[in-house]
Amino acid sequence: MKNVTLIYGDGIGKEVMSSAVEVIKATGADINFEEEIAGLEAVEKYGEPLPKKVIDSIKKNKVALKGPVTTPVGKGFRSVNVTLRKELNLYANVRPVKTYEGLKNRYEDIDLVIIRENTEGLYAGIEKEIEGGAETTRLITKEASKRIAKYAFELARRESRKMVTALHKANICKLTDRVFLDAVNEVHKDYPEIELNDLIIDAACMNLVMYPEKYDVLLATNLFGDIVSDLCAGLIGGLGLTTGSNIGKDGAIFEAVHGSAPDIAGKDIANPTACILAGAKMLNYIGYEKEAKKIENAIEGLIKEGKYLTKDLGGNLGTKEFTKRVIERLQ
Ligand code: ATP
Ligand code: MG
Repeated sequence: MKNVTLIYGDGIGKEVMSSAVEVIKATGADINFEEEIAGLEAVEKYGEPLPKKVIDSIKKNKVALKGPVTTPVGKGFRSVNVTLRKELNLYANVRPVKTYEGLKNRYEDIDLVIIRENTEGLYAGIEKEIEGGAETTRLITKEASKRIAKYAFELARRESRKMVTALHKANICKLTDRVFLDAVNEVHKDYPEIELNDLIIDAACMNLVMYPEKYDVLLATNLFGDIVSDLCAGLIGGLGLTTGSNIGKDGAIFEAVHGSAPDIAGKDIANPTACILAGAKMLNYIGYEKEAKKIENAIEGLIKEGKYLTKDLGGNLGTKEFTKRVIERLQ
């Protein structure tokens, strides 16, 4: 039996994460979920959105499945997500983006994954006021660049992907992005079967909108990765389907990309797919590869069939009803 920290989160969190838990259990994977409270409920109960015991639980279990957590604005709380990444040193943010057969989309055949460096770049938090303005430092180290590059090439190898594209602005950020690109090139030597190329970030944005199907693994520093991740989520029509994994050396957090969507909370209409797929990524991470694949196949099949979809995808099923259909398809 494997212990996994479970955070339901805010807004639609309870509904969509309950679906994920139900589906995971239905695969037969032997998991003990340890529930922890974070977000608004934690503020009410403990006076802070991210109590220390949540972090301790994840540190102990080394893996968490997390719902959308709201950081209350204007009360001096640090972002829950940023704090978790820092505390657990979750250096790789991984976001797969794939078109589903059966959905009406602007594009076909997109199957890419974005690997974003999660610990430095413009998020290093080195910012200060100067005379007449303010300045920030974009920290890029060789070590962190090599670490994220290795993650990207390992993933490419594991998933039989063929190409890694490094995104940068080395024509302007001549020193920092040179460090990044040199590190990527150095790591690439150990992965000769995978093609490596690079693209300036602005050109990448245009190419991704024009020919997204040409790309495979995108590797980027923190802010570029952040922006391109959302751009790519938009290419496949959205929030209800997109997951993100935050991976570190000794721990990982799996979650949906969407937020707490308070406007539709408690109405049984939210699409639980992103959370269910986050559950599949979690299963895969802890060694339940077969169970993970079962879930992914069930979702793909259901969407392709097109008869049983949630509202955001043009259907009329509620969260619970949709979850039932996913479970029926697991076999
Ligand atoms: P937060 O402040 O927690 O980010 P938000 O209101 O910005 O919450 P998002 O999740 O970022 O919510 O999404 C924006 C909108 O997209 C929501 O208001 C909701 O209508 C829709 N949405 C988000 N997630 C889902 C989902 N899983 N199923 C259906 N609709 C969703
Ligand atoms: Mg939001």
